[in-house]
Amino acid sequence: RAGGPLASVVGAELCRPAACKSSLGHKYTHGHALVLTGGPGRTGAARLAARAALRIGAGLVTLAVPPAAQQEVACQITALMLARCGDAEALSTLLEDVRLNALCLGPGLGLDAVAREKTEVALGSGRAVVLDADALSLHAEEPEALFAMTRGKPVVMTPHGGEFARLFPDLAGKLRGTLEHGPGYSALDAARDAAARAGCVVLLKGAATVIAAPDGRARLHSAQGARSAPWLATAGSGDVLAGLITGLLARGASPFDAAAQAAWLHVEAALMRGPGLIAEDLPETVPAVLSALA
Ligand code: AMP
Ligand code: MG
Repeated sequence: RAGGPLASVVGAELCRPAACKSSLGHKYTHGHALVLTGGPGRTGAARLAARAALRIGAGLVTLAVPPAAQQEVACQITALMLARCGDAEALSTLLEDVRLNALCLGPGLGLDAVAREKTEVALGSGRAVVLDADALSLHAEEPEALFAMTRGKPVVMTPHGGEFARLFPDLAGKLRGTLEHGPGYSALDAARDAAARAGCVVLLKGAATVIAAPDGRARLHSAQGARSAPWLATAGSGDVLAGLITGLLARGASPFDAAAQAAWLHVEAALMRGPGLIAEDLPETVPAVLSALA
């Protein structure tokens, strides 16, 4: 059964009427998420994220796919929709649809100039945006240029330790010092400092996951003892988390709530499923976690 110390806080929030689907609504009132894929052979991560966004209850989820990868994606999807998106201009055209309200960029996106331009268009669109994986690593050379685009925007960054160190090398260095020399600077401090610098919500992934907002709010999902799910450390699990956040954003959650609720759901789904979990299992277990909360 879904439970644990955070269930009363995060679980209850997930069940609030505002977050639950209204019986009077229709698919467009539950949000429309757009998940960008990379090119051929690099679309699996975004498909996982999109599946998670759909399972957490976004009304519609569209995969934005470069033309060369269109066939690869088309034969893998059912409830998801597909839109051609070869470059930043094509993304701008897609975003003329005002109902698209949450975007996910990063899983499998690639590290080329086109990926960078798409990130710029997404962040300039005013939509809620999740930046993960390549969308973060793309900016390793010039993190300040990224922060200029994220500051004050409804953005959630979801770095793992390596991606965090690329964007915030000094904070990662302080954290490493703590790990080597004893208590001092924690992952919570690092995520808070990062959120203040980037001006958006930062979710720092690891065995324990920290969510921090620029205003100083923070949550820690400690994965110790009975609540630990080390089998979550499996390929694609972070992509699912990015998709869960995107789906909750599409449904209207604030960036901080979406990140905190998704992190909680992610662990609960892993606990419910148990050892042997692969990333594909996570979106499929979300309905059972939600039902156990009801
Ligand atoms: P990524 O590296 O992007 O695939 O994300 C990995 C996901 O697995 C994140 O959500 C992490 O919080 C989670 N994770 C990694 N290692 C552990 C661990 N030892 N215990 C629990 N969760 C973990
Ligand atoms: Mg990842």
